[in-house]
Amino acid sequence: MNKAVFLDRDGVITKEPPYYAHRIDQLKLIPKSAEAIRLLNKNGFKVIIVSNQSGVARGYYQEKDIETYNMAMKKKLKEKNAHIDAIYYCPHYSEATIEKYKIDCECRKPKPGMLKQAEKDLNLDLKYSFLIGDKMSDIEAGYKAGCKTILVLTGQGNDELKKISEMDIKPNYILRDLYTAVQTINRSNKNKENNKNCKRDDGR
Ligand SMILES: [Mg+2]
Ligand SMILES: [Zn+2]
Repeated sequence: MNKAVFLDRDGVITKEPPYYAHRIDQLKLIPKSAEAIRLLNKNGFKVIIVSNQSGVARGYYQEKDIETYNMAMKKKLKEKNAHIDAIYYCPHYSEATIEKYKIDCECRKPKPGMLKQAEKDLNLDLKYSFLIGDKMSDIEAGYKAGCKTILVLTGQGNDELKKISEMDIKPNYILRDLYTAVQTINRSNKNKENNKNCKRDDGR
């Protein structure tokens, strides 16, 4: 089984604002996000993007725009040797103006549908997996899927902090950005491995 790190896209890997980014001229990587993803690759995590894209349901852009944007993002990451293993997005919204996407679906975060789908597709062990997001709806989806969760303060993270006190679900960590989050994941993983390698001293 594989361990994964689920990443929200907007405000975690790429800069937000602009909100509802979908044109390539709006695409900017957050500093050190490529380095962070490269570290996850190196440490054996599947890197999986899970992104709400209700801009489609709202009529702001189309699914093919998401695909073009994601392709450009992957190319930018690849130039820095960072690899994304899979991308899931939810184009739905229950209040949609575009009829086709007006669904109260199972994939829109805070529901864990995209994570559950990835669990099947990539043979994941969710309890050894993490979710990193800049909104509490990301954190809730990760929590419901049984992952450890990290709220980052890039994107909408700082504003989301205000909500935390009134939420039942809290992130396991609150950290500055994706790179810091990945350092924390690697540290906690190393500690686990060191414990595994410990010799048991039975006192004889
Ligand atoms: Mg976000
Ligand atoms: Zn959906």
